[in-house]
Formats: sequence, C-alpha cells, structure tokens
Amino acid sequence: MKYTTYIGLGSNLDNPIKQVNDALDALADLPDTTLVNHASLYQSAAMGNMDQPHYINSVAELATHLQPEDLLTELQGIENQQGRVREERWGPRTLDLDLLLYGDVVLESEQLTLPHYGLKQRAFVVVPLAEIAPDLLLPDGTALAELTGLFASDDLRRLC
Ligand code: ATP
Ligand code: CA
Ligand code: CA
Repeated sequence: MKYTTYIGLGSNLDNPIKQVNDALDALADLPDTTLVNHASLYQSAAMGNMDQPHYINSVAELATHLQPEDLLTELQGIENQQGRVREERWGPRTLDLDLLLYGDVVLESEQLTLPHYGLKQRAFVVVPLAEIAPDLLLPDGTALAELTGLFASDDLRRLC
C-alpha cells in the first residue's frame, strides 16, 4: 500500500538553503519512496530562543511504502547525515525533518505523533503545505485553506 505523506523541512545553520536542497535530494533517494512534489523555499523567524538565525523551510510530498515509524527512522538518518546535533529544544540546527502527515493516520506513540502536533499553529508549515496541497483536508476534517489566512504576512517570506 502506498501512502501520501508530507515532510516539513527546516534549517538555520551551515548554509540553510543548501541543507534544505540536499535534504530534498536525500528524500528523493529514500527506499520504496518517491518524491512527488515540494514547495518553494521560505524564510521564517526562529521559534523559542529568538537569538538564532532565521530558518529556511519547505514541505515535501512523498509517496511511500514505508511504515510511519520506519519513515521517521529514515528521516532521522538524513538529519544525522547532515550533521544534526541534538542540543536545546528548538535550538539552531542544520536540518529538521518533521513527519507532518501520513495519509489520514492519527496515532500517538512514544516516538511519533501524527499529524505532527504543531502543524496547524505554524505558518512555516501551513503555508508551504497549502502551496502544494491547496485542497488538503486534515484527518480531523479541517480544510488547510482555512488556516492559511490566520497568519500575519511578516511571519514568513517566500524565497523561490
Ligand atoms: P517540534 O517537534 O516542536 O517541531 P523539534 O522538531 O525540534 O520540535 P526534535 O528534537 O526534532 O523536535 O524531535 C523530538 C522528538 O519528536 C523526536 O525524537 C521524535 O521521536 C518525536 N516526534 C513525534 N512525532 C513526530 C513527528 N510527527 N515527526 C517528527 N518527530 C516526531
Ligand atoms: Ca520541528
Ligand atoms: Ca523534528
């Protein structure tokens, strides 16, 4: 069974634009998985400790045969390959890959919550996701398009 899944990408260290583009290449190379589409790159202010560089964000759509936990493990492998060091929560990082949605799956385990718990509140997730999936309905029935109007225009800047 093939599932449509959306991955949130973020980076604010060591040439973030290159980090995000390299991560898109790595997603395209995952086993049993196709990179179907990705959004533009966006610039956003950091969450949490504001005393860190801006982030570059995007969202990728994959079609995958991997199970959610296995996909998460693959995503963490890509983060590690790109030099992710786990220090303070929401601290600066070379690469963050969040599993935003996996089909209509809703689950909560020790390692994985689906949909990603921060999805609806984050402009740098909702706006790129709406760019590539404007008609998307979240598993709880929320239309993504209803969320895009909730953010201030200076939350996020579209780059390319
Ligand atoms: P946030 O989760 O608020 O975006 P973060 O991305 O900085 O913060 P991480 O340190 O990357 O947080 O991840 C912490 C843990 O979150 C991971 O070890 C992972 O097991 C767990 N996790 C739960 N649900 C998800 C998900 N949907 N996508 C990615 N990680 C998840
Ligand atoms: Ca994150
Ligand atoms: Ca993460």
